[in-house]
Amino acid sequence: MKKKMVSLVVAAAMMTAVGCSSTGGTKTDAGGAKTDTSAKKPVVGVAIYKFDDTFMTGVRNAISQAAEGKAQADIVDSQNSQPTQNDKVDLFITKKVNALAINPVDRTAASVIVDKAKAANIPVVFFNREPLADDMKKWDKVYYVGAKAEQSGTMEGQLIVDYFKAHPEADKNKDGVLQYVMLKGEPGHQDAELRTKFSIKAVEDSGMKVEKLAEDTAMWDRVKGQEKMAAFLASHGDKIEAVFANNDDMALGAIEALKAKGYFKDGKFMPVVGVDATAPALKALEDGTLLGTVLNDAKNQGKATFNLANVLASGQTPNKDNTGYEITDGKYVWVPYKKITKDNMNDAK
Ligand code: BGC
Repeated sequence: MKKKMVSLVVAAAMMTAVGCSSTGGTKTDAGGAKTDTSAKKPVVGVAIYKFDDTFMTGVRNAISQAAEGKAQADIVDSQNSQPTQNDKVDLFITKKVNALAINPVDRTAASVIVDKAKAANIPVVFFNREPLADDMKKWDKVYYVGAKAEQSGTMEGQLIVDYFKAHPEADKNKDGVLQYVMLKGEPGHQDAELRTKFSIKAVEDSGMKVEKLAEDTAMWDRVKGQEKMAAFLASHGDKIEAVFANNDDMALGAIEALKAKGYFKDGKFMPVVGVDATAPALKALEDGTLLGTVLNDAKNQGKATFNLANVLASGQTPNKDNTGYEITDGKYVWVPYKKITKDNMNDAK
């Protein structure tokens, strides 16, 4: 009995030793399965600002998919806390990952991350939350993958313009002015600030007059979007002629609040526009509740982020040939947006 115990302990110790070894050629996991580790794959440390975000879940899945068979993408949740993210970055640096891919919680905190990465000589690709230009310039191994926020705002505005041109009766009080409400994403986020500004600019540029009835942040969140929209309806009721939301989750929340007030049945309609073209938003387009959205291409943003990080991890400089994406100003990959309505929704799938 005693002898059996001893041999079990020895066997366990041996398994652990093999599992820990990176030069052994095989790795044995807890279930006893062996994996070939002779060709060691680079490790990319990825931190998402929070897992509980519909759009970022799409980007996260695209990163995992792009990494398959090429690198180990170690993806962590920063739980919407910059101190938590900084700890995760420290851990990645201690583990000596080959590259970092960071979706900052607070984009102004990128500076600290660049300093740490530079000191450890680990290249970093930021994505979705654009660091300030000065922070991007701090080191030549810093990149950014995102989309031009003003472009998405302009497209959102155009969706509303197209609708009002085709439906003059949408000017309910016939005053020639568009009375609107705005659901904003997180203040300070480039997408929240610029979508808010450029959506309205596009409407004004078309020659239409606008009047803002209300604007508030719903922090990219569906439930908060519903609550804020319910409050807007309580104060402005049927005076509201259009709803702009900086993303689809908030637009879908607004649609819930509108449904509770009798909209989307018996001919009562409200034009609501968002950004992202998430699966639930496409469903709402199909149902005829959401008027339009703008494709925020999670698949290509995730793939570009991984491709850049992977090229950097192998010590090369990213370019169009080795990443598949055009690099602007030596540091930026801009993935284009696209206007989506029920008519072309297959383009967003
Ligand atoms: C998306 C939002 C998302 C945010 C996260 C934006 O580009 O449109 O849906 O919540 O990024 O940073």
